[in-house]
Amino acid sequence: MRSTKTSAQLFELGRTVVPDGVSSPMRAFRQVGGEPICVASAKGAKITDVDGNVYTDFLNAFGALLLGHARDEVVEAIARQAALGSVVGLTSPLEHRLAQRIVDSTPAIEQIRFVCSGTEAVMTATRIARAHTGRNLLVKFVGSYHGHSDVLLASPSDSGVKVKGVTQGIPENLNREVLLCQYNDEAQLKSLFKAHGDAIAAVIVEPYATNMGFVRPQEGFMGLIRQLCDQHGSLFIFDEVVTGFRFTFGGICTLMDIDPDLITFGKIIGGGTPIGAYAGKARFMQHVAIGSSVFQSGTFAANPLTMAAANAALDVLEQPGFYTELERKGQVLDAAIRAQFNAHNIPFLFTRFGALGGVAFRDSHRPMQSYQDVKTQHYEIYTQVHRQMLDRGFLMAPSLEEPIFISAAHSAGDLEDFAVALGESVSAALAAHRLAFPVLMPF
Ligand SMILES: *Cc1c(COP(=O)(O)O)cnc(C)c1O
Repeated sequence: MRSTKTSAQLFELGRTVVPDGVSSPMRAFRQVGGEPICVASAKGAKITDVDGNVYTDFLNAFGALLLGHARDEVVEAIARQAALGSVVGLTSPLEHRLAQRIVDSTPAIEQIRFVCSGTEAVMTATRIARAHTGRNLLVKFVGSYHGHSDVLLASPSDSGVKVKGVTQGIPENLNREVLLCQYNDEAQLKSLFKAHGDAIAAVIVEPYATNMGFVRPQEGFMGLIRQLCDQHGSLFIFDEVVTGFRFTFGGICTLMDIDPDLITFGKIIGGGTPIGAYAGKARFMQHVAIGSSVFQSGTFAANPLTMAAANAALDVLEQPGFYTELERKGQVLDAAIRAQFNAHNIPFLFTRFGALGGVAFRDSHRPMQSYQDVKTQHYEIYTQVHRQMLDRGFLMAPSLEEPIFISAAHSAGDLEDFAVALGESVSAALAAHRLAFPVLMPF
C-alpha cells in the first residue's frame, strides 16, 4: 500500500504558514478527497513524491508541460541563461526571436507581447478590447476559466447559473459588465447580441473548452462568434492558453480556419517556466505602444530565463513529425481506454483531440456540450477513481473539470498501463457506488 506519511506531515506544518498548504487551490486535492501529495522531483513522464512514490503524470502541470518534466534541451537552455543573467529589466534578442517565431507560426498574429502568466495575458487582451471599442461588456462562457483577474472572475451575481471561480471581492460594477452564455448555445449567443450588441466589447472563448473537462465546440460555433463580432463591431478573443502549440506549431485557430482579433497564450510556450502572451492584429496590439491608449508592463515580462526556455521548447516542437507522433500517442491512449471500458462494461464516453482527452463520468454516449452537461457527471465516482489511480501509480488532475494531458514524454507503455489502471479504477469505483446507491444509480 502506498504511504503518504511524509506528505501528510509536511502539509500539517505547511498549512500553518500557507493557507491549505498550497499557493493554488486545486493542489490541496479538496475536490478529490483532500489528501494532497508533496513533490520531491519530476523527470520525463514521472513524478516522485516526498515518500518516494513514483507516479506517471497525466496532469502535466495543468497542461503547461507538453514535453514532460525537465526535458534536457530546456534544462540546458535555462542553465546556460541563468549564468548570463536571469532578469535585466531590458529586452534581449531571445525575446524578439520568440516573438518572430510565434508571429510566423500563426497567420492571425502580426504582433505579440509577453507577460508572466495566462492571467495577465487575458486581462490585458480584454483591456485592449475595451479600449479599442470604447465599450465595457464582455461575453464569457459558463464553465470557462481565463485566469484569476478581477475582470475575468467577474460574473453577474443574479444570473442563477453555476459559474467557476466564484469569489467575493469583485466590485459589483465589474460583475455587471459580464454576460454569460452556455458553451455551444447558438441561440443564447444570438439573443445576447440582439439585446446588447452595440455595447459588447468582446467575446472571449476557449477554442476547445478545457477547463470543464474536455468539451468540443460544435461545428460552426466559432464561426458564428466571428460573424456576430463582425456584425456588431466587437472583438473576438481566442484564449489559447491551453490549446496554443498543443495540436500544431502555433494557434489552433489556423487549423479551425478562424481569424480571431486577439489570441492569448501561456502554459506550453514557456517550456515549463512562467509565461503568458497576448497577440493579434497590429491595429489592436498597437494600443499598448507608448503614447497610445492601453498600459501594460512587468518586471519579469519576457525575462531571459523564460525566453531561453521557451525558445528551447519551440525548437523541439518545431522538429518534423513532432505533432504526428503526439497524435499517434493520442490514438494509442484512445484505443486502449476504449478497449478497457468495453472489457469492464463501463458506460462512460472518452473524448479526445490530439494529446488532450477526457472521460465523461456519466451514462451517456452523447458528448458533453456545455457546463450544464459537465455538471451531470458523478463527481463522487471521480473522487474514488483519482485516489485509486494514485495507488496504482498514476497522477490525474485533482478535479473532474480538467482534461487528461498527454505529453511527448509518455511511452506507449505508459499510455497502455494508464488505460488498464483507469479501467480497473473506474470499475471498482462503480461497483462500490452501486453497492451504496443500488436504487438511484442508472448504471
Ligand atoms: C491556465 C489558464 C489561464 C491562466 O493562466 P495562468 O498562467 O494560470 O495565469 C487562462 N486561460 C486558460 C484557458 C487557462 O487554462
